[in-house]
Amino acid sequence: MADRYPGERQWLGTPTYPGESTVSLPPLVEPAAELTVDEVRRYSRHLIIPDVRVEGQKRLKNSRVLCVGAGGLGSPALMYLAAAGVGTLGIIDFDTVDESNLQRQIIHGQSDIGRSKAESAAASVREINPYVDVVVHNTVLDRDNVREIFSQYDLIVDGTDNFATRYMVNDAAVLLGKPYVWGSIYRFDGQASVFWAEHGPCYRCLYPEPPPPGMVPSCAEGGVLGVLCASVGSIQVTEAIKLLTGIGEPLVGRLMVYDALEMTYRGVKIRKDPNCALCGEHPTVTDLLEDYEDFCGAISDEAADAVVDSTITAGELKEWQDAGKDLILVDVREPAEYDIVRIPGSVLIPKDRILSGDALAELPQDRQVVLHCKTGVRSAEALAALKAAGFRDAVHVQGGVLSWIKQVDPSLPAY
Ligand SMILES: [Zn+2]
Repeated sequence: MADRYPGERQWLGTPTYPGESTVSLPPLVEPAAELTVDEVRRYSRHLIIPDVRVEGQKRLKNSRVLCVGAGGLGSPALMYLAAAGVGTLGIIDFDTVDESNLQRQIIHGQSDIGRSKAESAAASVREINPYVDVVVHNTVLDRDNVREIFSQYDLIVDGTDNFATRYMVNDAAVLLGKPYVWGSIYRFDGQASVFWAEHGPCYRCLYPEPPPPGMVPSCAEGGVLGVLCASVGSIQVTEAIKLLTGIGEPLVGRLMVYDALEMTYRGVKIRKDPNCALCGEHPTVTDLLEDYEDFCGAISDEAADAVVDSTITAGELKEWQDAGKDLILVDVREPAEYDIVRIPGSVLIPKDRILSGDALAELPQDRQVVLHCKTGVRSAEALAALKAAGFRDAVHVQGGVLSWIKQVDPSLPAY
């Protein structure tokens, strides 16, 4: 990491400096009528801060905040928003708590495994602060419900982990004129910003197009340091409190970039793009997209073509192996993943070595080549490269090692 220096990555743009004037906005929420005696006792450490005082706490009490996702970022965000006294907290998540979540999703505990994440998070919020009204949305956020759900809240905190939902959250927020606090995490790197098209850029101004399929791995594919969630989630909550109460200078028009290995936080200016498809001067996106998954493309067109008639299930792979078929099973994941769990008989050749062509000489032309990865995305990309290189009979395993565990050997650890 020593070879990095501020401003090195050109996409980061102009750095901002402490004290440099940014933007100051009025409070988002009117104050509640009063605080009860119990609330005064509970929030006393807030009330004695000159910038907050009773009035700021009354604004928090009157606030309605929705947290999209009760996962890595949603966990610390919901816990601190609850403790801070945000009066109404919405939680939307359709997933259930899995053992592999507990390394970072601290709002859930061991006894919550298998339980709805939204319900589990709601129980923790009630335990932290009984004065919070919790609204549970135990559903998938989609184009049919996103407007109706968002319109019930003053502010959105985006804790989603995939590009399709991220673009939908942005588009809905811009179309409804709602501010939202965005965060993202990967391995040791975090980013956060406030997107509010009325006062600054939106997510599409920063990232007009989703990354090419397979370019940016998810945390499930690439991993994330658990505590990174707290670092980025706490920025999100800080910004939410500032916006709701009108304190300080919000992260509108600025991107905060956190590097846990260097232990640096850097603010970078981001500008509203006059050509933004959504919030620019001549928008081309004037409604929610029909299909955000399609917009973000799970796999590239080449990979989608390659897998047609060249996909087998994990069960079929097992049958081939049991029947003694002459095949080479190539695991295209990374070495760290191979160490965790592997399909018996597989050899490791990471995807990048296949895409670059380096590994092609290691593959036999006269045996059946079977590729697999964790979920079937990377192996589809590798399959496209192999087919282009003349391996016309090569196939890949649908659902990757996770399907193998589900269909063939549940004793192996899913990760
Ligand atoms: Zn925009």
